[in-house]
Amino acid sequence: VIALGQAEHSVTTTCAYCGVGCSFNAEMKGSEVVRMVPNKNGGANHGHSCVKGRFAWGYASHKDRMLKPMIRSKITDPWKEVSWEEALSYAASEFRRIQGKFGKDSIGGITSSRCTNEEVYLTQKLIRAAFGNNNTDTCARVCHSPTGYGLKQTIGESAGTQTFDSVMKSDVIIVMGANPATGHPVFASQMKRRLRQGAKLIVIDPRTTEMVKSPHIKADYHLKLRPGTNVAIVSALAHAIVTEGLLKEDYIAERCDEKSYKEWKEFVSRPDNSPEAMEELTGVPADLIRGAARLYAKANNGAIYYGLGVTEHAQGSTTVMGIANLAMATGNVGREGVGINPLRGQNNVQGSCDMGSFPHELPGYRHVSDTTTRTMFEDVWGVKLDPEPGLRIPNMFEAALDGTFKGLYCVGEDIVQSDPNTQHVSAALEAMECIVVQDLFLNETAKYAHVFLPGSSFLEKDGTFTNAERRISRVRKVIPPKAGKSDWETTQALSNALGYPMNYQHPSEIMDEIAALTPTFHGVSYERLDELESIQWPCNEQAPEGTPTMHIDKFVRGKGRFIITQYVATDEKVTRKFPLILTTGRILSQYNVGAQTRRTENNKFYSEDRLEIHPHDAEERNIKQDDWVGIESRSGQTVLRATITEKVQPGVVYTTFHFPESGANVITTDNSDWATNCPEYKVTAVQVMPVTQP
Ligand code: SF4
Repeated sequence: VIALGQAEHSVTTTCAYCGVGCSFNAEMKGSEVVRMVPNKNGGANHGHSCVKGRFAWGYASHKDRMLKPMIRSKITDPWKEVSWEEALSYAASEFRRIQGKFGKDSIGGITSSRCTNEEVYLTQKLIRAAFGNNNTDTCARVCHSPTGYGLKQTIGESAGTQTFDSVMKSDVIIVMGANPATGHPVFASQMKRRLRQGAKLIVIDPRTTEMVKSPHIKADYHLKLRPGTNVAIVSALAHAIVTEGLLKEDYIAERCDEKSYKEWKEFVSRPDNSPEAMEELTGVPADLIRGAARLYAKANNGAIYYGLGVTEHAQGSTTVMGIANLAMATGNVGREGVGINPLRGQNNVQGSCDMGSFPHELPGYRHVSDTTTRTMFEDVWGVKLDPEPGLRIPNMFEAALDGTFKGLYCVGEDIVQSDPNTQHVSAALEAMECIVVQDLFLNETAKYAHVFLPGSSFLEKDGTFTNAERRISRVRKVIPPKAGKSDWETTQALSNALGYPMNYQHPSEIMDEIAALTPTFHGVSYERLDELESIQWPCNEQAPEGTPTMHIDKFVRGKGRFIITQYVATDEKVTRKFPLILTTGRILSQYNVGAQTRRTENNKFYSEDRLEIHPHDAEERNIKQDDWVGIESRSGQTVLRATITEKVQPGVVYTTFHFPESGANVITTDNSDWATNCPEYKVTAVQVMPVTQP
């Protein structure tokens, strides 16, 4: 319990949990943090906060923190504590040995949202300049990579179009495949305020979430679709808009590509895309689809917010493009109150994409094959860069199993717990010869590591995070790094050990380099961030104070491009053996794989993953409330306790993935998005049966 008035001074920094990016004042007594107080000047939160950011920061001083570098030559050996110099030198010599034996492309690295923008930038620079390849990927691969692809194809920029505040001007809000009440709580409160003022709400979700019905809100439409039918619903909505004459023809004629529009219009007008034709497939009555389409299309300002329930599918990119089609067709991009708004899950997943952590793109979303861009980076970095895209995370696993990928530098991402089909990931890691894990804790991935480099928490480093509305905010060092180095210093030291020199004195110098090389960041600096509190990119000569709303006069790509979105059924079929569909999500008090929140008081609110099952399915299987149940898929099996609830529809079960012992990803599949390989976490065919307590 912290007594009020105890603080002696405070340091303003940014929450390290979700994509809202709340600003906090870390109040200090001496060198101890005594409490986190939401910052009234925070551009994303305006003084508000949630149970994670406000209370769940104690993990930074948890007894499980690993504070010494460690090495071992085999994963069956015990860890040996060594000096930083010895650990870095060992890692560098192993990476070089592997490249000498298996070739330049046999190693790579993975960044995460635990990294600041500056740390992501340095890591991808290390991989491109010191490893000499483009085998760099990030946690966005498993969440919002379809957003990056789909929005670039249609409107030309891989980011959301609006500020969070923009929702206060929306008349109609669509929330699709997202539950902001648990995933983005501070923004959800703002959205609820707007709904209480009279805005209408359409929820498209297989579950009855808090956004559908809660003490303060009730959705006007809930399209409770079957998991895996997002594209069908989007096409049916488009069909109703087109055939009922609800298109914004003037807007389309002025701002969109004519040829793609004509082709798309012809496609969605087909009878097989009608709400009636899609009713059986989606499970949503046609009149609800038509009603929702009319409500959205007739709004003065209609906004779409979507999350991982859209992206984490075999057709994730297709649905993102379908959403963009809807927004363009109804004139809902380019002013306040409207837009296409991906609710990025993690604190810096937007930033990790912006900073060039993808294997095909340099910072600023420029393709590695573009000679002009590459030359610009080569001149500053002093190396020749590989023009060929590198390996995505799933490709790294495949190459490891093929024997051609042998070394991995993994910063802040627990791939064993967070990536699908755990057995497949574990087998790939076991096949590698040098895995370097840089993290706060000995996580599940560290079980396969040969070098452990202690990471630094967000309280222990300077840098920036970029939230879901493209807002760059300062992360400020509140306490010294407990293991002696901030993460950017560790990456820099590893690069030096590899023989590629880096000599930044402070992360502000890294940001200056990012700004010099990235047109959308030309106007960003720490001085400017101190002055403005935060900046939404693009920030450059044309927009010196940043850009709250994008695509105002025209789309970034020029003419908005409509894309045909043909529904294709997922390969993950229900059968007699696996008759139910499992879908996954999160809970308010926990965060992702739980590495941080499980080590805080928040664990008391939710201390186990559970399986939600509909009363009909439970009765059929003689499952009672709180019974232990076995869940089996084609990938594996696990055991959870059952919660019987009508939140899920018959034929669908649901769980969270916050606890390693329940291993939700032991049962998820290898299926992935056709364009980006984002895993299809949201559709796994399973059987559920009662079991005795494990
Ligand atoms: Fe804000 Fe998200 Fe942190 Fe909660 S978890 S305080 S909503 S940034």
